[in-house]
Amino acid sequence: MSDLHHRVEETQAILARIARDFSPAVFASSLAAEDMVLTDLILKAQLPIGIFSLETGRLHAETLAMLDRVRETYGHEIALFRPQPDAVDAYVARNGLNAFYDSVEMRKECCRIRKVEPLGRALAGKQAWITGQRRAQSTTRAELAVQEFDAGHELQKFNPLADWSEENIWEYLRAHQVPYNALHDRGYPSIGCEPCTRAVQPGEDVRAGRWWWENPESKECGLHLVDGKLIRIKSVAA
Ligand code: SF4
Repeated sequence: MSDLHHRVEETQAILARIARDFSPAVFASSLAAEDMVLTDLILKAQLPIGIFSLETGRLHAETLAMLDRVRETYGHEIALFRPQPDAVDAYVARNGLNAFYDSVEMRKECCRIRKVEPLGRALAGKQAWITGQRRAQSTTRAELAVQEFDAGHELQKFNPLADWSEENIWEYLRAHQVPYNALHDRGYPSIGCEPCTRAVQPGEDVRAGRWWWENPESKECGLHLVDGKLIRIKSVAA
């Protein structure tokens, strides 16, 4: 039997506590399925939690279309944080547009410019931030806590969906008729930048399509740090 009702109540309570005790707080939305659950919960409860997305300049058209879907559905404008144009221009001039395929270092530098630096601006002056990460999503997230101190950004970080299963997510989205990214219906369980995300085969890890040319150990973008370091892996199967 579904445990969705219990999960929703728990998550609503966590979000209400964040709004009450950690203001100003923001939610970093990638506009993917998990993040649409949180968007729906935050906006329907009219919680004073800002919602933003990192517009890296390399997102799929389907992902960008979600900004309109959110506006049409909720009358809410998601704030966008973009990379510094000079930093993007310098990286591209020096290395080429798609240098992230060349090495992990090049990939992390692109993520630093297009995601990590804008995220720092989005989190400046905030007491807490919220993500839609789930424990079951990948080997890199197996130890994810619902609440943790983000030492890299020096604020509280909440992952209210840490315990949710993929089934919970889709049951919620369907039950509440929440709009979702069309790529999810085309084999993309996890969606990042267009050149760095591919569809996955049935049975593959949900994040296998992210930076698919790299080893699993390096598959995070630098946004999620523990004690100033990228979260390290522990096999989900273990
Ligand atoms: S996911 Fe790919 S395109 Fe997007 S910022 Fe990272 S390396 Fe660059």
